[in-house]
Order: sequence, then structure tokens, then C-alpha cells
Amino acid sequence: MNREDLFDVGSSHPGSCRCDACKEWWKEVGPDEDGYGPFTKEEIEGGERKVTVIDVGREVICDGCNSDFTNSPESGGFVVGSYCYCPNCCEGMEKEYQKYGEAHLIRLRCPEGKSFSDWICDDVRKGNNNITIMSA
Ligand SMILES: [Zn+2]
Ligand SMILES: [Zn+2]
Repeated sequence: MNREDLFDVGSSHPGSCRCDACKEWWKEVGPDEDGYGPFTKEEIEGGERKVTVIDVGREVICDGCNSDFTNSPESGGFVVGSYCYCPNCCEGMEKEYQKYGEAHLIRLRCPEGKSFSDWICDDVRKGNNNITIMSA
């Protein structure tokens, strides 16, 4: 439902309506002085988040170029924040970082002789291959 439809619903249904569309509407506009109309704070703000956990196994995809490195023996790459960059990406990025004095942003580096994929799986994720996705 897009924003305009949402507002149509919100203004056409009675203030005490508890349908899904009205719930979305309250979520969108926020509480008034009496709260979220017929909904409790918990109903609107929490509790109902769906958490999806995906086990990606040993799959390693570069966050920069989306290349699949799962079965690549290539060594190199680094981690910036929570993003992993493959050997191909990091070469150019490293130059940029040096140029702008931001090399400290590189949090972790792949040790020489270890493949990017093994390094990400064993040392960066430390065996935790689950990606948790929270839906609002
Ligand atoms: Zn309604
Ligand atoms: Zn890459």
C-alpha cells in the first residue's frame, strides 16, 4: 500500500477501527495525545517484528561488486564497517582511502595466503553464517 492509499484509509475509517490498514496508518502518523487510537503502544511499536534468519552457509559475496567468491581461492580483501570487499574491489578502494587519509576505516584485512572466502567464513563471521533480517 502506498502512502496516499494509506492516508485515504486512515481518514475514511472510524478512529476506533482496528483493521490492518488502520494499524499501518497509526504506525505512519505516530501517536496523538491519547496514544495510537484503539491500538496499544506495543501493538504498533514492537512485538510484531518478524525476524527472518537466513543461514548463508559458506557463501561469500562481495558487498562491493556482488561477485561470488564462495569457491574462489583468491586471497586478499578487507572489511570496512560491516561490509566485506573482495580482492578486486579493495585494490582501488585502498588507494582512495590512502588518498583521503581514511585508511583507518579498514577494520580487518585478509591475511596473506588465506583465501578471501575462508577468511570471511572462519575469521570474520567466526562460524556464524546467519543473516538476521528484521521486518518493521
Ligand atoms: Zn480500518
Ligand atoms: Zn568486489
